[in-house]
Amino acid sequence: MKLELKKFHLKEKIDLQKKDWVLISIIIFVAGLAFLLHHFIGGKGAGCVTVKVEGEIQGVYSLAEDQVIEINDGTNILEIRNGTADVTGADCPDKLCVNQKAISKNGESIICLPNKVVVTVDSSENSEFDAVAQ
Ligand SMILES: [Zn+2]
Repeated sequence: MKLELKKFHLKEKIDLQKKDWVLISIIIFVAGLAFLLHHFIGGKGAGCVTVKVEGEIQGVYSLAEDQVIEINDGTNILEIRNGTADVTGADCPDKLCVNQKAISKNGESIICLPNKVVVTVDSSENSEFDAVAQ
């Protein structure tokens, strides 16, 4: 009788551990899925680009939509294609903004100093995630 009771306890303990492992696996799986999903959304650029001229917001454009934007009455041309934003034309003398790489990740920016144009990627999902992580 005493022995049987002990056996029962031992079995229950093992079952509990198994359950724990299943739970841990599920947590890891869900966390991994959330990370992948976030990475996918962030990487594909579901965010927006904010265009500022002389510090004032001129417009906010979705990266999900291919479009060509004339900034500041055409002094700079911003092209959104495949989830990235790129300055493809400008009337500034240095053309530094045109030479800058296309941007797609949260916080990246293209700056045209002569025309005082700043283009910044601003994904709300990413900034929320970053705020929680910090
Ligand atoms: Zn420029």
